Formats: sequence, C-alpha cells, structure tokens
Amino acid sequence: PRADAATVFAWFDGALVDAGAMQAGLTTHAMHYGSGVFEGMRAYATESGAAVFRLPEHLERMRRGAEMFGLPFDPALCAEATLATLRANRHADAYIRPLAWFGEGGFGLDVEGHVPHMMVATTATSVHLNGSRARLGVGKWRRNPADSLPPLKLCGSYVNSILAKREAKARGFDEALFTDREGFTVECTGANVFMVKDGRLTAVEHRDALPGITRDTLLQLTGAPSRMVPLAELMDADEVFACGTAAEVAPVAQIEEREFGDNPVTRELAELYGRVVRGREPAWRHWLTDL
Ligand code: PMP
Repeated sequence: PRADAATVFAWFDGALVDAGAMQAGLTTHAMHYGSGVFEGMRAYATESGAAVFRLPEHLERMRRGAEMFGLPFDPALCAEATLATLRANRHADAYIRPLAWFGEGGFGLDVEGHVPHMMVATTATSVHLNGSRARLGVGKWRRNPADSLPPLKLCGSYVNSILAKREAKARGFDEALFTDREGFTVECTGANVFMVKDGRLTAVEHRDALPGITRDTLLQLTGAPSRMVPLAELMDADEVFACGTAAEVAPVAQIEEREFGDNPVTRELAELYGRVVRGREPAWRHWLTDL
C-alpha cells in the first residue's frame, strides 16, 4: 500500500494496516505492567533517497530488551517491517517507533499465555539542527538503578523518565538531569550527556544510563574518552550537551542556576552528526540502511 492524504500506515503483526483504525485489547499485559520493549530510530533524506541510521544496532538493543522477559522478537522481521512502513508512508525524514509487547491473556503477572505482538509506526520529523538550547533541572528522582531495572528501552522503565520530566517542568525547566546518590551524573530522561572543558570532549558514563547509539556514534567519530563525571564537574564545564536519536546533538543552556554561554564545540559536533546521518561522510555511509 501507499499513503494518501487520509491514511497513515503502521505495520502490525505481519501486515501494513491503517494506523488510525487499530485498537489494543483491555487486558493488554503491557498496558497493565509495562511488559513491552521499544526503539526510537530515525530515517534521513540522503542523496540516494531515505535511509535509516544504525538500524541493526537499534534492533539489537531491542532484542536484548525483549529477551529480558522472554518476549519473542525477530530483528530481521522488524527491519523489514520498518522499511515497509517507511516506504508506505513515503517519509524521507522520519522518526520510527517499533514496539513489541505482550497483549491479551488475563491479569496475571506471568507473561506465559499472553499473546506477543509487534508494531512499527513512523512520523515525519522536522529536523532542527542546532535547535533549541535545553534548560535542565537536576531532578529529585533517581534513575532506575541498573540492578533493579536494566538500562534498556523496556516500556515500564519509562515511568521513571515521566516522573523526572514532570518534576523538572513543574519547576520551569525543559528537561531533567538524573544524578545518583553519590552525586555522579547519569543522563537525561531520553538522552545521554557529554561535556567540553578547555576544548576537550568527555562522554558521561554511568551504569544506570541507557547505552545510547548516538553517544556511541559520537565516541566513534571523535575518539573522546568516557568516564563517570560528578555533577560539580559537569557544572564547571565550558559546554554541556545532550544527545540521542530524537535530540541529536542538543546544546544545554542551563543546569539549575548555572548558565552556559556559547557552545562552539557542540555546534561543530552537531554539524558533523548532521552530515553523517545524511550520508555526507563517506567513511560512515555503512551506518545507513537504504529503503
Ligand atoms: N537515554 C535514554 C533514557 C533514552 O531513552 C534515550 C533515547 N533512546 C537515550 C538515552 C539516547 O539513546 P539513543 O542515542 O540510542 O537514541
């Protein structure tokens, strides 16, 4: 199928469907208990048409999440579903949301006997390079510790991000920055963190943080070191930025009372990232999967 003005397609359990017409059952296990796993991926317009950035890496992370609660997940099928949905919706620049979850089967916690489902939905994105400069509040909520919830994209884990984001927004910030009990920086609610001091770039590392693919991309592009960073050191940096599939490379304007000025290193990295994801850096073209 091909999209017309009235229809947006999604892929659901093996076929393209009219996304607006779909419904989930009332005993959907994932809705009650969060037993689903998702990804956030992006497609970009390149010289040779739309392409998905680091598709296998995203689907491998999703597979690891699904494995945590015995949810069947086939990365090859999900890749096919992703490309089919993008083609049907005729998106060039798109945000892509695959989700696998346990559906109907009663109110017990055991996943056995619940029907597994998979969907892929896409939305057109408008791309804001060097976009808004985020103001971060240091939240009262701690990130899910990795020994309670693995830092993967499990649906239920994101209640933690929702709480933190709400708290930061209620205090007038755009986004929350998680720190741990010892005062180390963890990550934002949906993005990892880097800092620049005296021209040197450092990736913030933390066992409770999601192993971000954008973070990995920037580490591979720059060879920057990665280590645990106390909040006090982050506050003392010259530049701080958040990075993620949706956020791309997003300069931080403020953390609590501390304001950050110009961000030339962040700007340069954002531009480099923008070229890489659009296939304009031949050395990294292999990160793109053509439709
Ligand atoms: N941390 C969290 C909690 C996230 O949800 C995301 C978005 N997936 C990220 C970091 C960034 O990860 P990625 O670069 O793989 O999108």
